[in-house]
Parts: sequence; structure tokens; C-alpha cells
Amino acid sequence: MSNTLLPFTFAKNKFILLEEEQEQIILNYNELPNISVLTELQRKFDKYKLKFLEKDKLHQKIQAYYESGSSQSLGHFQDNAESDEGLDTLAMELHEPIELLNSNDEAPIIRLLNALFAQAILEKASDIHIESYENRIRVRFRVDGTLKHVLEPSAKIAPLIISRVKVMAKLNIAEKRLPQDGRIAIQLGGRAVDMRISTIPAGNNGEKIVLRLLDKQAGNLKLKQLGMPDKTYDGIQDLIHKPNGILLVTGPTGSGKTTTLYAALGELDSVKTNITTVEDPIEYLIDGINQTQINNKINMTFAKGLRAILRQDPDVVMIGEIRDKETTEVAVQASLTGHLVFSTLHTNTAVGAITRLQDMGVESFLLASSLSGVLAQRLVRTLCAKCKIPSVANSYEQKKINISDDVTIYKQAGCKDCNYTGHQGRKGIYELLVINDEIKILINDRAVEKKIVDAAVNHSTLAEQVKNLVLKGEISVDEAVRVVYL
Ligand SMILES: [Zn+2]
Repeated sequence: MSNTLLPFTFAKNKFILLEEEQEQIILNYNELPNISVLTELQRKFDKYKLKFLEKDKLHQKIQAYYESGSSQSLGHFQDNAESDEGLDTLAMELHEPIELLNSNDEAPIIRLLNALFAQAILEKASDIHIESYENRIRVRFRVDGTLKHVLEPSAKIAPLIISRVKVMAKLNIAEKRLPQDGRIAIQLGGRAVDMRISTIPAGNNGEKIVLRLLDKQAGNLKLKQLGMPDKTYDGIQDLIHKPNGILLVTGPTGSGKTTTLYAALGELDSVKTNITTVEDPIEYLIDGINQTQINNKINMTFAKGLRAILRQDPDVVMIGEIRDKETTEVAVQASLTGHLVFSTLHTNTAVGAITRLQDMGVESFLLASSLSGVLAQRLVRTLCAKCKIPSVANSYEQKKINISDDVTIYKQAGCKDCNYTGHQGRKGIYELLVINDEIKILINDRAVEKKIVDAAVNHSTLAEQVKNLVLKGEISVDEAVRVVYL
């Protein structure tokens, strides 16, 4: 990709876009800029072609052009960052949401960070890790669930980068011995991205920072777009259109639980029903839904928020996560008094949610009468179709997923198309346990998990599903083991 021909601010103010197409310079315009601009362009580029565009079109084109153009110069920013002075002062000056592409500030650290954020968004990273070591810092992105190395600036600028991030997140920059958390709101090409920041002391007077990127537009997915099998999709539709009951989504961090819950909320009629959430953090803002942020510092807990919400006559309640007995009890009460309750829980399997809640101390008969369904989910990395290699399963692999030795499986390799990772994209797998009358009795009797799974109708476990994907050559055995047999 070539360098951008004009600074973003200039292009935006003059409402023109210069681009290079087949070695020709093209000036995209809606209204021709004044003669001095045109002469200046001619002086710089000698020859260029004029192209008229409708307002909307040109606007979109400018955004798209600068969004993709900001990815090239990380290395360059890094080189410039070392010798500058007074960066701390510069770092103090910015507070509010910052339009990245608009930033005229030449301060190297700011430019470095802005480029880093832009790059993370372009690569669809979910997290940015900034780690301090004795003589260096390391910056990594988590993309498709796996960390990748991005950049290693010298230790000299480490404190500057870290203070700058802390200032943006309105954290105390002098406090390095205690963990802190905050948020940064940025705009990139007109798109709002929230970042949740957490710091923790690391090494010798250093800090590690993790920035979690919450793309607000990702909250607009529909259930249909999540790639569930039809019977799972239909099952969930049934559950979310009941007047009451608890629907839980389970899985490890980063398995897309929140996305599923938001998609489920999006299926409901927010005009005729009162939908309220209590979350930590509010990941996506959704129009028509009342969202409440919990805050442990002032003792605004999930349980407390939930009790307050229930006094406000909701029909549907979404609880970000069930972490303790108190929250579960309020959720059970809410369901028994005619509310539909959605929440998430950290368990490996769908049926594991029942055991977990019983272990938390919830009465089995209450659970049996309030729980309506549990959806377990994972995101698996699919093999790159261009470079995957057929092979015969070795004895370990045969045993792990219970297949015979004459089955062809596929292993990851790496090529230009998949950025040498061997993987291309991710795919959701879902196991829906619908609580039928037979399972209610089993829950009430505290039956073992196997009995409950056997009583489930139309049920396919995550283990069965990853095995199928291995047999179809879509994922590797390693990936199947990683996501399901942890
Ligand atoms: Zn490949």
C-alpha cells in the first residue's frame, strides 16, 4: 500500500481525496477546491485527473481510504519516538474521545499509540497487551483468540507509553503499585470504539496494561448471523419468547457469550416490552434497551442492581454475569415472579451450569422450576483452506477424539493468505440444553450430569460437534482439544 497522498485533516476540510490508481493521480471532488489549492496540487503532482463524486460517496470514500491507509507506519513511528522530550506534558493534554485520524498532534508517542489503536481495529484485535520487561516493552494483539507479536519499542519510551494510556483512561499515573481500571473512547473514521483498560504492577517498578476493544457496532448482530444450526436457533427462539425462565449462556472468556446475549435481546420487541440490563462493563449500547453499569467501588453489585431493576417493572432482564449465590437467588426470584432472565456463567459444558449453581448453594427445587435452558458455546479457529495438510491421525489424536486410524484429518500449515497462521477466521459452536420436564425432575433430585445429558432431547454436545468439524476437515485435532477438552 502506498503512503497517503494528503493528510486526513486537509482532505476532510477541503472535502477532496487524492488517490493513486494505475500510476495516475486522481482528485476526487464534489465541489472543486479554489485555484490556489489546485495550483498547489499541480506543483506537487505535475499531472492529475479530476473525478466528480456525489457527496455521500465521496464522504464514504475518504473515510474508507484513511481507515485502511493508517496501517503502514508503525515502524516509522517507533523510530521517531525515542529522542523526544516533554512527552509526559503532551500526554497530559488530551482527555475526551479523540478522532484518531483528525489528530494533528505530532507528538511521537501519541502518534505511535494512535497508529497502534488504528492497527488493532483494522486487524479486528480483541485485546492489546503492553508488557514491561527490564530492558524492553512488548506490544501484542489478540486476534482470533491468539496473541501475536506487534512491536517492541525500547525500554526508554515504555514509561511514556504507559503513562499516556493511563492519562487517556483517566487513571492515576503516579500509582504504579496497585491495579487500576478505566476506559478510553476513541473514534476511528467515524466509528466509535470503546476500550476497557486494566493495569497491573509488573517486574521492577513497571506495569502491564491490557486494553480490551469493544466495538460498539458488533453489538448489532442478529441471532441468525451467529451461524447456529437451525435446531439450536429454533430452540433459542422458543426460550426467549417465553414469558419467564432463566436462559444461561456459558463458556470461557472470549467465547462470544455477550454477543449471543445481545443478539437474543435484539430479537425481542423493545417497544412493547421493558428490557433492562445490569452489566460490567456495558459492552455495546443498544437503542431501546435500558442498560445499567455495576460499580463495585461504591457497592453497586449485580445483586443490588438487579433488585433495583425488578422494582422498575421489567419484562426481560439481562445480567452480565452470575458470579455468586446472592445474584443467582435474585435471578431465580425474578424468573419465578414472571420475568425472563438472561445471563452468563463460566462453565465448560451446558450441563455443568446446573452443578455450578447447585454448588453455589441454590436450592435444587428452585433451580428446577426456574431454569429454562443453557447454551454452551465456543469459538473455534477454522483451518485455512489454501494450505491445510491432510494427514493420518496418530494414536494420541485417535484416542482424543475417538476415531479410527484410517480417517483423514487436516493439520495447519501457513501461507500468505492466512498470514502464516494456518487459520482463517473463527466459527461458533453451540450446545443447547433445553430443560424439559424429565430434566426438571433430575435437577430436583440432584442427579449426576450424565443422566441429565441422556435425558436431553435433540441434543448434540460440544465434543460431538468439534469431532464432526475435525472429520469434515474444518478444524485441527489440536484446536478441538484446545476448545473443548481443556
Ligand atoms: Zn493458509
